[in-house]
Amino acid sequence: MTHKHILIVEDEQKIAALLKEYLEKAGYRATIAGRGDQAVAQVRKSSPALMLLDIMLPGMDGIAVCREVRKVSNLPIIMTTAKVEEIDRLLGLEIGADDYICKPFSPREVVARVKAVLRRSNPETVEKNLALGPIALDENTHLALVSGQTLDLTPSEFSLLQVLISQPGRVFSRDELLARVQGYDCEGYDRTIDSHIKNLRKKLADHLPGQEIITTVYGIGYKLSCTLQ
Ligand code: CA
Repeated sequence: MTHKHILIVEDEQKIAALLKEYLEKAGYRATIAGRGDQAVAQVRKSSPALMLLDIMLPGMDGIAVCREVRKVSNLPIIMTTAKVEEIDRLLGLEIGADDYICKPFSPREVVARVKAVLRRSNPETVEKNLALGPIALDENTHLALVSGQTLDLTPSEFSLLQVLISQPGRVFSRDELLARVQGYDCEGYDRTIDSHIKNLRKKLADHLPGQEIITTVYGIGYKLSCTLQ
């Protein structure tokens, strides 16, 4: 059995050591980088299966690391932040992370998220290609097309659209979407989904102006229009 390599980028040694211990107990191989600039070098050198990335780091901050890494790799990235409010800002920046975890976190929660994100990025477990009206999703390449034109989506937006398009017209609650898209959420933080939906709507509207594609169902959640032309 091969042990998937998780790169922990964290300058607080205690947290890093604890994460390493739990990830190894869960059957992963874990290494630690204590500086942002080291992390970029390590990704190039060892191509980890997933990166846990702290934001406040010496050398280079997590946001810059994420951007640098995205130039050379599409490995799953989970960002950790001390501030719940910061997640909104990060989502807005569209730096291409796959999930966000708030500190303080339990190592157990982190392991669960790592598993969820890896499961999502494993092509064996994803659903078939999906299409509705002008929208088509290709699971293998993670490409979304609208009328044949590429839609530039983050991994989370892609997953969200994938869930919605799998059952057009069905209302999905925020919790449900979070569970499908992110595995877990920071406690009480269901605005994550609202931000993703907002970005997704904006991108869809660029290609399909004037059409209501994702509908808000007040007090419940969201659904995809089943009458897309
Ligand atoms: Ca830090």
